[in-house]
Amino acid sequence: MKLEGIHHITAITEDAQRNVDFYAGVLGLRLVKKTVNQDSPTVYHLFFADEGGDPGSDLTFFEYPGAPLGRAGRGMVHRIVWRVASADSLEFWAQRLEANGIESRRDGDSLHFSDPEGLDHELLVVSVPDPPLVADHAEVPAELALQGFHAVRAYSAVPQASAGLLEALEFEPVDGGWEARGEKRGGLYFYDEPPAEAGLQGAGSVHHVAWASTLEEHMQWREKAISGGARPTPEIDRFYFKSIYFREPSGVLFEVATMGPGFTVDEPLEHLGEKLSLPPDFEHLRAEVEPNLRPVRNPRSDSE
Ligand code: ZN
Repeated sequence: MKLEGIHHITAITEDAQRNVDFYAGVLGLRLVKKTVNQDSPTVYHLFFADEGGDPGSDLTFFEYPGAPLGRAGRGMVHRIVWRVASADSLEFWAQRLEANGIESRRDGDSLHFSDPEGLDHELLVVSVPDPPLVADHAEVPAELALQGFHAVRAYSAVPQASAGLLEALEFEPVDGGWEARGEKRGGLYFYDEPPAEAGLQGAGSVHHVAWASTLEEHMQWREKAISGGARPTPEIDRFYFKSIYFREPSGVLFEVATMGPGFTVDEPLEHLGEKLSLPPDFEHLRAEVEPNLRPVRNPRSDSE
């Protein structure tokens, strides 16, 4: 029994429109769900992913208008590593980012850049057997597109303190980090030495990373987390998937989320993310919530 790599990564944005313009417009991901934060239903929760809205490619944002810029520090994920297929892809992205006012830095098989709020990304040329998770975008050839998550990097001064829990969660030591590799997909977790300055959870910072479980094994992962010393929440039904949450010893907030039922549970695949989706338990809030959300224009609908 293994976790099937990274399920999703959730970060914070101050400005949903700028966020959609960057992730759907520039990076070419698909906005697959526009909903609200279930723990704070007056703010957006936006989900970007591949064309199918698959776990493994799903970057999500809570929008907190007016939030100050955050800063990654100890106990926080500070970089998201995406798979790409080739050096040609790195070249393509360096040019496309530059054309959109985003500086990038090439380092061997990697291209580093930050989003408009300072969230760090790395595109890494990798060769893995996992199916690429690619979104359609008129200006991004499929062979050059982002192919889903490869890894996240977090800051910890005492990474060995997390070893026991990661082992309980069946991660394996790989390349100086840890890998959760299931039957279909793998994802990596690395620690870096933290900066001196404390972190700040704000715009452009990662809130949590979720690892993928089958529906059947979900509660067993909860038991494994407990056996590794964590204190997971009860299973929470997020409607699109079920989740448990706990902090690992470095301070990073982990989630284990199920690979279903998925985003087509309330919208057909061809219309994902076009309207505000509210899970049944939140539908009664629509009249109250919708007028307060700043409308978001999806650049993808403009090009269609
Ligand atoms: Zn989550």
